[in-house]
Amino acid sequence: MSSLTNKVAVVTGGGRGIGQEIARALAAQGAKVAVVSRSASSCGKAAEEINAAFPGSATAYAVDVADHAAVQELAKTIGEDLGTVNILVNNAGITRDGLLMRMKEEDWDTVLDTNLKGAFNTVKAFMRVLMKAEDPRIINIASVIGLIGNAGQTNYSASKAGLIGFTKAVARELAGRQVTCNAVAPGFITTDMTDELPDAIKEAVVSKIPLGVFGETKDIAEVVTFLASPAARYITGQVIAVDGGMTM
Ligand code: NAP
Repeated sequence: MSSLTNKVAVVTGGGRGIGQEIARALAAQGAKVAVVSRSASSCGKAAEEINAAFPGSATAYAVDVADHAAVQELAKTIGEDLGTVNILVNNAGITRDGLLMRMKEEDWDTVLDTNLKGAFNTVKAFMRVLMKAEDPRIINIASVIGLIGNAGQTNYSASKAGLIGFTKAVARELAGRQVTCNAVAPGFITTDMTDELPDAIKEAVVSKIPLGVFGETKDIAEVVTFLASPAARYITGQVIAVDGGMTM
């Protein structure tokens, strides 16, 4: 029996990149996975690919995590479709980079609404179910930028630092119900998000990574799968950096 047989997982931002790899890794361990992303085509394609490898394991849901009412509705639908949710992975995230001097209010709001309020929305929507589930887990995908900051990313950095504070407070609130809540803080991982960076910036970043290379989506998915498993039952309120040594 795999470690997540009979478990139901929700992965936001599961349509591409890190989230898709997390959804696939949880399915590989036997979980039924709700793959949530903004666009129906993105989560639909990801679910199709996961189902090709692990038949019947993935279901796609197109929902904007920043939309509080839509996320409440999503929780109801997933409950009806897949049953009791055991694992919630808050991975949906965006960047709208620019120096603070030039940052528009809209760029601040959109990033905070997706990266931070999105996690508030999903935890609110799923917490009652999680409190009654077996081996309940919340795993938030933060970023090293939430730990050390970055010029040109005040909005993103604040959202991820906020997500880390949220993780610890949720961990304390829900510990009495044995719901664990942890954050994973990726360093620079090869995905659409980092592909956008100019080559000069990529080279500058690599020079600051002790292990000397960008990470891969699998590096994050492995850690999330462990945190989601029954083996991680005594870990809560932690931030695990998976960053090639950047923040040591
Ligand atoms: P990505 O390739 O850009 O994929 C982001 C995913 O999030 C997409 O599936 C997207 O949906 C979804 N999403 C965005 N806004 C959403 C919303 N409002 N509602 C629902 N879904 C939404 O990003 P990634 O690089 O895999 O990053 C995943 C997470 O890891 C993010 O939280 C990011 O901040 C964090 N992270 C990434 C890195 C890195 O180096 N890549 C480093 C540190 C932290 P669509 O596919 O429908 O557009």
